[in-house]
Amino acid sequence: MIFAKQALLGEVWAEDVRLTVQDGMIASVDVGAKPSAGDARVDTLLPALGNLHSHSFQRAMAGMTEYRKAGRDSFWTWRDLMYRFMDRLTPPQIEAIAALVFMEMQEAGYAAVGEFHYVHHQKGGARYGDIAELSHRIFAAASQTGIGLTHLPVLYTYGGAGQVALSEGQLRFGNSVDEFLALVDSAGAGLGDLPSDTQIGIAPHSLRATSPDDLQAVLAGHDSGPIHIHIAEQPKEVVDIEAWLGARPVDWLLNNASINRDWCLIHATHITDGETQAMAESGAVAGLCPITEANLGDGPFNGPTYLGAGGAFGVGSDSNVNISLTEELRTLEYSQRLRDLARNVMVAGEGSVGHTLYTGAALGGAQALGRNAGEIAAGRLADLVAIDSSDPSLCALAPDQILDGLVFTAKDNVVTDVWSAGRHMVKGGRHVARDSIVGTYRGAIADLLESI
Ligand code: ZN
Repeated sequence: MIFAKQALLGEVWAEDVRLTVQDGMIASVDVGAKPSAGDARVDTLLPALGNLHSHSFQRAMAGMTEYRKAGRDSFWTWRDLMYRFMDRLTPPQIEAIAALVFMEMQEAGYAAVGEFHYVHHQKGGARYGDIAELSHRIFAAASQTGIGLTHLPVLYTYGGAGQVALSEGQLRFGNSVDEFLALVDSAGAGLGDLPSDTQIGIAPHSLRATSPDDLQAVLAGHDSGPIHIHIAEQPKEVVDIEAWLGARPVDWLLNNASINRDWCLIHATHITDGETQAMAESGAVAGLCPITEANLGDGPFNGPTYLGAGGAFGVGSDSNVNISLTEELRTLEYSQRLRDLARNVMVAGEGSVGHTLYTGAALGGAQALGRNAGEIAAGRLADLVAIDSSDPSLCALAPDQILDGLVFTAKDNVVTDVWSAGRHMVKGGRHVARDSIVGTYRGAIADLLESI
């Protein structure tokens, strides 16, 4: 049982709300209720977001790539450094980093994560005894933290547009279609040990890292569940795909695959108004990663056109350079304001930007992760976050201003409690396994630095 002084139920605020949680689901919601002894009592209860895009291992190199050397740094120079760093990682280190990342996500208010998992092999590309060894490491990290996991094994076959061979730095990612399908099978066999809300999807890495035939082959073998793809993060990617396939990436994908609500298009950054409109109408989720997109110099999303067309969206922490739900949402809005020289951009018509961003990302994130979540209602998964509305950043605000306060003025430390499918993993602002997870992480990083 959870008792909240106030809670957001769908679009409406309610007071004195008591929830019954059973088998990870919200079984009942009573408004105007009285608390009972034994209830978990919280101040303000919200649906918790799913973080729809993460490469957990990149967390360990945060802060290492902000130094300018001769020449102009770009996404592509960052990627070279990332490849060199990644080459050192061992399976226990990958597990320890993922556990830290998942814990930090929960403490920031996320209940679930889509782990876009593309490091599969040993340095140089040698296979582990179980081709899905590193997927199982991600599962172990999810088990330690209790986060809701949507695991997204990545098909990464080519080094660039036009079926270019993998570079040395990419050999840990590479699989043929057959190997990839075997990897997904092996990973799927490990799901039995995990909570029933765990999902497995697929992720063709990008159009540049696959081919039209390979893409068709993996889609043909995929019955249902999330499909994620990086789509148009960089102008060079758009130019390369257009030269190879004769169309811009989003345009090509919409015309060559059955894009629907199962799909999540990550970094649809460089898209025309026509592509934006068509993508919104497809039902797919736009996977936006504003902090990483700012950090890498990717560019802003075409927000006003997309929202105007009713497009679904969610957010992801991607490179995990800084895991902050509040900063992720506010960076999304600020990227639009800086481009458009305007205020209150990410809302269609009139209304609260904070409410639009938070509730939109809650529903879109849940859709992208294949989770029956995103709002507080009976029959939904109990992905819940409680915040403290008496915090100085929020205490002056009426209920219908709280999400504006959360997005624009608060820090993540207003989060007091998080439940991932009913698992109460954050209490009093701390993850229940914080000390052991941080201790293991520090040990893993010391080993890693010694090896460099
Ligand atoms: Zn990514």
